Amino acid sequence: MKINIAIDGPSAAGKSTIAKKLCEKLGYVHLDTGAMYRCTALKAIRKGISLTDEPAVCAMLECTDIQLTPDGKVFLDGEDVSHEIREDAVSMAASDVSKLQNVRRDLVRRQQKMAEARGFIMDGRDIGTVVLPDAEVKIYMTASAHARALRRLKQNQETGIDTSDLETIEKEIEARDYQDMHREHSPLVKAEDAVEIDTSDLSIEEVVDRIYQLAVPFLEQEECVK
Ligand code: C5P
Repeated sequence: MKINIAIDGPSAAGKSTIAKKLCEKLGYVHLDTGAMYRCTALKAIRKGISLTDEPAVCAMLECTDIQLTPDGKVFLDGEDVSHEIREDAVSMAASDVSKLQNVRRDLVRRQQKMAEARGFIMDGRDIGTVVLPDAEVKIYMTASAHARALRRLKQNQETGIDTSDLETIEKEIEARDYQDMHREHSPLVKAEDAVEIDTSDLSIEEVVDRIYQLAVPFLEQEECVK
Protein backbone atom coordinates (compact mmCIF):
# COMPACT_ATOMS: atom_id res chain seq x y z
CA MET A 1 0.00 0.00 0.00
CA LYS A 2 1.23 3.43 -0.94
CA ILE A 3 0.28 6.89 0.27
CA ASN A 4 -0.94 9.97 -1.61
CA ILE A 5 0.75 13.35 -1.36
CA ALA A 6 -1.15 16.59 -2.08
CA ILE A 7 0.70 19.74 -3.12
CA ASP A 8 -1.25 22.98 -3.44
CA GLY A 9 -0.16 26.55 -3.89
CA PRO A 10 -0.11 29.54 -6.23
CA SER A 11 1.28 29.38 -9.76
CA ALA A 12 4.99 28.82 -10.33
CA ALA A 13 5.68 28.09 -6.66
CA GLY A 14 7.59 24.98 -7.79
CA LYS A 15 4.84 22.40 -7.30
CA SER A 16 5.36 20.44 -10.52
CA THR A 17 9.16 20.46 -10.38
CA ILE A 18 9.17 19.23 -6.80
CA ALA A 19 6.42 16.67 -7.44
CA LYS A 20 8.40 15.18 -10.35
CA LYS A 21 11.61 14.87 -8.32
CA LEU A 22 9.79 13.39 -5.37
CA CYS A 23 8.08 10.88 -7.67
CA GLU A 24 11.49 9.73 -8.92
CA LYS A 25 12.64 9.25 -5.32
CA LEU A 26 9.53 7.37 -4.19
CA GLY A 27 8.63 5.56 -7.42
CA TYR A 28 5.30 7.41 -7.42
CA VAL A 29 3.29 8.95 -10.27
CA HIS A 30 2.84 12.70 -10.70
CA LEU A 31 -0.61 14.05 -11.56
CA ASP A 32 -0.57 17.70 -12.65
CA THR A 33 -4.23 18.68 -12.27
CA GLY A 34 -3.61 22.17 -13.68
CA ALA A 35 -2.97 20.48 -17.03
CA MET A 36 -6.58 19.27 -17.03
CA TYR A 37 -7.95 22.80 -16.57
CA ARG A 38 -5.52 23.97 -19.25
CA CYS A 39 -6.79 21.28 -21.68
CA THR A 40 -10.38 22.32 -20.99
CA ALA A 41 -9.52 25.96 -21.70
CA LEU A 42 -7.54 25.13 -24.84
CA LYS A 43 -10.34 23.07 -26.32
CA ALA A 44 -12.95 25.75 -25.51
CA ILE A 45 -10.78 28.42 -27.16
CA ARG A 46 -10.26 26.27 -30.26
CA LYS A 47 -13.99 25.61 -30.54
CA GLY A 48 -14.90 29.25 -29.96
CA ILE A 49 -16.85 28.44 -26.79
CA SER A 50 -17.12 31.30 -24.33
CA LEU A 51 -15.14 30.59 -21.16
CA THR A 52 -18.04 31.84 -19.07
CA ASP A 53 -20.68 29.67 -20.77
CA GLU A 54 -20.86 26.93 -18.15
CA PRO A 55 -23.39 24.61 -19.88
CA ALA A 56 -21.45 24.76 -23.18
CA VAL A 57 -18.04 24.17 -21.55
CA CYS A 58 -19.48 21.28 -19.50
CA ALA A 59 -21.14 19.70 -22.53
CA MET A 60 -17.81 19.94 -24.37
CA LEU A 61 -15.98 18.40 -21.41
CA GLU A 62 -18.34 15.42 -21.33
CA CYS A 63 -16.95 14.32 -24.68
CA THR A 64 -13.36 15.22 -23.95
CA ASP A 65 -10.58 12.77 -23.18
CA ILE A 66 -7.62 14.03 -21.15
CA GLN A 67 -4.67 11.74 -20.51
CA LEU A 68 -1.67 12.53 -18.32
CA THR A 69 1.18 10.10 -18.99
CA PRO A 70 3.75 9.08 -16.35
CA ASP A 71 6.49 10.79 -18.41
CA GLY A 72 4.70 14.15 -18.09
CA LYS A 73 2.98 14.38 -21.48
CA VAL A 74 -0.56 15.67 -21.82
CA PHE A 75 -2.96 14.32 -24.46
CA LEU A 76 -6.20 16.07 -25.34
CA ASP A 77 -8.50 13.80 -27.36
CA GLY A 78 -5.42 11.85 -28.42
CA GLU A 79 -3.38 14.90 -29.48
CA ASP A 80 -0.14 15.76 -27.68
CA VAL A 81 -0.76 19.30 -26.35
CA SER A 82 1.96 19.25 -23.68
CA HIS A 83 3.59 22.34 -25.14
CA GLU A 84 0.57 24.32 -26.29
CA ILE A 85 -1.22 24.27 -22.93
CA ARG A 86 1.72 26.13 -21.35
CA GLU A 87 1.23 29.25 -23.50
CA ASP A 88 0.49 32.40 -21.44
CA ALA A 89 -2.93 32.88 -23.05
CA VAL A 90 -4.00 29.41 -21.94
CA SER A 91 -2.91 30.06 -18.32
CA MET A 92 -5.46 32.79 -17.68
CA ALA A 93 -8.11 30.95 -19.71
CA ALA A 94 -7.54 27.90 -17.47
CA SER A 95 -8.14 30.07 -14.43
CA ASP A 96 -11.34 31.35 -16.08
CA VAL A 97 -12.83 27.89 -16.72
CA SER A 98 -11.72 26.71 -13.29
CA LYS A 99 -14.25 29.12 -11.77
CA LEU A 100 -17.11 27.05 -13.20
CA GLN A 101 -18.53 24.74 -10.55
CA ASN A 102 -19.59 21.96 -12.90
CA VAL A 103 -16.25 21.96 -14.69
CA ARG A 104 -14.59 21.48 -11.30
CA ARG A 105 -17.04 18.72 -10.42
CA ASP A 106 -16.21 16.81 -13.62
CA LEU A 107 -12.43 17.20 -13.31
CA VAL A 108 -12.32 16.50 -9.57
CA ARG A 109 -14.21 13.25 -10.16
CA ARG A 110 -11.63 12.22 -12.79
CA GLN A 111 -8.76 13.15 -10.47
CA GLN A 112 -10.18 11.17 -7.55
CA LYS A 113 -10.60 8.14 -9.78
CA MET A 114 -7.00 8.42 -11.01
CA ALA A 115 -5.61 8.56 -7.47
CA GLU A 116 -7.67 5.64 -6.16
CA ALA A 117 -4.80 3.21 -6.58
CA ARG A 118 -2.60 5.45 -4.37
CA GLY A 119 1.08 6.18 -4.90
CA PHE A 120 0.37 9.57 -6.45
CA ILE A 121 1.71 13.05 -5.93
CA MET A 122 -1.00 15.38 -7.12
CA ASP A 123 -0.49 19.11 -7.48
CA GLY A 124 -3.05 21.85 -7.96
CA ARG A 125 -5.11 24.35 -5.96
CA ASP A 126 -7.73 22.22 -4.19
CA ILE A 127 -6.03 18.86 -3.75
CA GLY A 128 -5.63 18.89 0.04
CA THR A 129 -9.00 20.56 0.59
CA VAL A 130 -11.32 18.92 -1.98
CA VAL A 131 -9.77 16.26 -4.24
CA LEU A 132 -7.79 14.23 -1.70
CA PRO A 133 -8.78 15.46 1.77
CA ASP A 134 -7.44 12.14 3.15
CA ALA A 135 -3.97 12.46 1.60
CA GLU A 136 -1.40 11.40 4.19
CA VAL A 137 0.91 14.33 3.41
CA LYS A 138 -0.39 17.78 2.46
CA ILE A 139 1.84 20.63 1.42
CA TYR A 140 0.99 24.28 0.79
CA MET A 141 3.84 25.59 -1.33
CA THR A 142 4.46 29.31 -1.72
CA ALA A 143 7.19 31.68 -2.93
CA SER A 144 7.39 35.43 -3.44
CA ALA A 145 5.74 36.74 -6.62
CA HIS A 146 9.14 37.88 -7.88
CA ALA A 147 10.79 34.50 -7.33
CA ARG A 148 7.88 32.82 -9.10
CA ALA A 149 8.00 35.20 -12.06
CA LEU A 150 11.74 34.58 -12.46
CA ARG A 151 11.17 30.83 -12.45
CA ARG A 152 8.33 31.05 -14.99
CA LEU A 153 10.47 33.21 -17.30
CA LYS A 154 13.35 30.72 -17.10
CA GLN A 155 10.96 27.81 -17.68
CA ASN A 156 9.42 29.53 -20.73
CA GLN A 157 12.85 30.27 -22.18
CA GLU A 158 14.05 26.70 -21.61
CA THR A 159 10.98 25.13 -23.19
CA GLY A 160 10.99 27.57 -26.10
CA ILE A 161 7.61 29.11 -25.23
CA ASP A 162 7.01 32.55 -26.71
CA THR A 163 7.38 34.46 -23.43
CA SER A 164 6.47 37.90 -22.06
CA ASP A 165 9.02 39.96 -20.11
CA LEU A 166 9.55 39.54 -16.37
CA GLU A 167 7.29 42.42 -15.32
CA THR A 168 4.39 41.21 -17.48
CA ILE A 169 4.80 37.66 -16.18
CA GLU A 170 4.78 38.89 -12.57
CA LYS A 171 1.58 40.87 -13.19
CA GLU A 172 -0.06 37.90 -14.92
CA ILE A 173 0.89 35.59 -12.06
CA GLU A 174 -0.51 38.00 -9.48
CA ALA A 175 -3.77 38.47 -11.40
CA ARG A 176 -4.25 34.73 -11.82
CA ASP A 177 -3.48 34.00 -8.16
CA TYR A 178 -5.92 36.69 -7.07
CA GLN A 179 -8.62 35.12 -9.25
CA ASP A 180 -7.80 31.58 -7.98
CA MET A 181 -7.86 32.71 -4.34
CA HIS A 182 -11.08 34.71 -4.58
CA ARG A 183 -13.32 32.50 -6.72
CA GLU A 184 -16.56 31.21 -5.24
CA HIS A 185 -15.97 27.48 -5.71
CA SER A 186 -12.94 25.74 -4.18
CA PRO A 187 -10.70 28.80 -3.98
CA LEU A 188 -7.01 28.29 -3.35
CA VAL A 189 -6.61 28.09 0.43
CA LYS A 190 -4.19 26.27 2.67
CA ALA A 191 -5.79 23.13 4.10
CA GLU A 192 -5.82 23.31 7.90
CA ASP A 193 -3.60 20.25 8.16
CA ALA A 194 -1.20 21.23 5.34
CA VAL A 195 2.44 22.07 6.01
CA GLU A 196 3.43 25.39 4.46
CA ILE A 197 6.77 25.56 2.66
CA ASP A 198 8.09 28.84 1.26
CA THR A 199 10.42 27.82 -1.56
CA SER A 200 11.75 31.34 -2.35
CA ASP A 201 15.17 30.69 -0.84
CA LEU A 202 15.30 26.91 -0.87
CA SER A 203 16.92 24.65 -3.43
CA ILE A 204 14.87 21.97 -5.19
CA GLU A 205 16.75 19.30 -3.23
CA GLU A 206 15.97 21.00 0.09
CA VAL A 207 12.24 21.13 -0.66
CA VAL A 208 12.17 17.53 -1.92
CA ASP A 209 13.97 16.39 1.22
CA ARG A 210 11.62 18.31 3.51
CA ILE A 211 8.55 16.65 1.99
CA TYR A 212 10.28 13.27 1.90
CA GLN A 213 10.91 13.56 5.65
CA LEU A 214 7.20 14.29 6.19
CA ALA A 215 6.33 11.14 4.21
CA VAL A 216 8.84 8.84 5.96
CA PRO A 217 6.72 8.03 9.06
CA PHE A 218 3.86 6.89 6.81
CA LEU A 219 6.19 4.87 4.59
CA GLU A 220 7.70 3.19 7.67
CA GLN A 221 4.21 2.37 8.96
CA GLU A 222 3.46 0.71 5.64
CA GLU A 223 6.67 -1.33 5.96
CA CYS A 224 5.54 -2.54 9.44
CA VAL A 225 2.14 -3.57 8.09
CA LYS A 226 3.89 -5.67 5.42
O1 C5P B 1 -1.21 24.65 -12.04
P1 C5P B 1 -1.47 25.48 -13.27
O2 C5P B 1 -0.89 26.85 -13.18
O3 C5P B 1 -1.07 24.76 -14.52
O4 C5P B 1 -3.06 25.62 -13.32
C1 C5P B 1 -3.72 26.42 -14.27
C2 C5P B 1 -5.00 26.96 -13.64
O5 C5P B 1 -5.90 25.88 -13.40
C3 C5P B 1 -4.82 27.64 -12.29
O6 C5P B 1 -4.53 29.01 -12.38
C4 C5P B 1 -6.15 27.40 -11.60
O7 C5P B 1 -7.08 28.41 -11.94
C5 C5P B 1 -6.65 26.11 -12.21
N1 C5P B 1 -6.51 24.97 -11.30
C6 C5P B 1 -7.51 24.77 -10.38
N2 C5P B 1 -7.47 23.67 -9.58
C7 C5P B 1 -6.46 22.79 -9.67
C8 C5P B 1 -5.42 23.00 -10.60
C9 C5P B 1 -5.47 24.12 -11.40
O8 C5P B 1 -8.43 25.57 -10.26
N3 C5P B 1 -6.47 21.71 -8.88
